[in-house]
Amino acid sequence: MTESPIEVRCAIAGGGPAGMMLGLLLARAGVDVVVLEKHADFLRDFRGDTIHPSTLELVHELGLLDEFLRLPHQEVRVLNAQVGEFKLPFADFSRLPTRCKFIAIMPQWDFLNFLAERAARYPGFRLRMRAEVTELIEDAGRVVGLRARTPDGPLEVRADLVIGADGRGSVVRDRAGLHVTELGAPMDVLWFRLSHRPGDPEETTGRFDPGRIFVMINRGEHWQCGFVVPKGSTDEIHRRGLSAFQAEVARIAPFTADRVGELADWEAVKLLTVRVDRLPRWYRPGLLCIGDAAHAMSPVGGIGINLAVQDAVAAANLLAAPLRAGELTADHLRRVQQRRELPTRITQRLQVLVQNRIISRVLGRAGPLRPPLALRLFARVPALRRIPARLVGIGIRPEHVRTPAAGRDGEAA
Ligand SMILES: Cc1cc2nc3c(=O)[nH]c(=O)nc-3n(C[C@H](O)[C@H](O)[C@H](O)COP(=O)(O)OP(=O)(O)OC[C@H]3O[C@@H](n4cnc5c(N)ncnc54)[C@H](O)[C@@H]3O)c2cc1C
Repeated sequence: MTESPIEVRCAIAGGGPAGMMLGLLLARAGVDVVVLEKHADFLRDFRGDTIHPSTLELVHELGLLDEFLRLPHQEVRVLNAQVGEFKLPFADFSRLPTRCKFIAIMPQWDFLNFLAERAARYPGFRLRMRAEVTELIEDAGRVVGLRARTPDGPLEVRADLVIGADGRGSVVRDRAGLHVTELGAPMDVLWFRLSHRPGDPEETTGRFDPGRIFVMINRGEHWQCGFVVPKGSTDEIHRRGLSAFQAEVARIAPFTADRVGELADWEAVKLLTVRVDRLPRWYRPGLLCIGDAAHAMSPVGGIGINLAVQDAVAAANLLAAPLRAGELTADHLRRVQQRRELPTRITQRLQVLVQNRIISRVLGRAGPLRPPLALRLFARVPALRRIPARLVGIGIRPEHVRTPAAGRDGEAA
């Protein structure tokens, strides 16, 4: 079986935050677009549930904020670090110049379903689930489409532009011969859930303990827990056994002692191998990578989703008009990289600084821990907490929706 070929202006590989946001914005601007997502739905393992103030601002600019905030979510207004007995607030979102002065914590699949449903209102939008991109189609050195595997047979898509939004293991990037530069990370993260019970603390907190960092995100009915460990130490943790791991969690966060048994086997504990990398060049004629496919971010600050969304907005702003007019050149693609490369580089540099100055030291320490100087300063001088709040909540060079919504005839209004 072979499916009939599709012809579109833009084919997007990957229905994550970057691909879905770009699909919505292009369709809204009257560009014919198809998003190909290899999974059957958006329900996945935990991959980050944070919707940052700058992303909420974009949702507002799209006129969708009220609907969006009706979806179940939690609101985090202050970020705290717990070092031994000391609770140190270090980021306060309440003074941000954005409509929403909080991080909304919402399952990523709710966010993606929301984008998919809103995008489906535009006639130029198509979403193909269970379509796994396997190859690029090239003509005289230019990417002119892609091939995907679907349950109904191979699918060929011809497009003026192929977007690689297929995440940090990007197939599109690989097939295009684009290679990332690794920046390195000293840690991996073990993610798992524990139930949230009456009487628990309410705050989302990062707990620092000699040799360990333990993040607990309050998700209402449960805690999403991230256990940060030295890179490559997971085999050793497995060798020591699950009960030793449970005991360690209970030691760092004593109120969890009555429920660490919920971790029935290692299946409940998912390893995130942390990678920080970026492409020196994000594009080739006919092809552009965005989001994690262009730059995998460190989990420091939890900003991967936000950066992916920001890339999508910048790409839509710069590419919608030439795509609609059928006049796209490699120079348009270069401008997207030019716009987003600086925020990516600065953010990764700051993340690597935190990794080397704070995370490595905490993970490498056996004796008692003193709060790092930066955390002590933020705790002592409340005004300083606006700096990490701004970096985490808004980021460098925030984007705004500049693409006009198309009129009924598909022409830009
Ligand atoms: C365990 C974990 C925790 C995280 N926590 C946070 C957090 O708290 N906050 C935060 O901001 N970020 C977090 N991140 C990072 C965040 O998930 C990413 O930065 C963000 O999702 C990047 O978006 P993206 O659209 O570029 O890529 P992805 O979200 O990776 O989306 C890529 C999509 O492409 C699809 N795909 C892949 N290959 C193909 C193919 N060949 N054909 C078709 N489709 C394909 C995938 O199924 C996926 O849906 C976390 C990541 C992990 C793994």
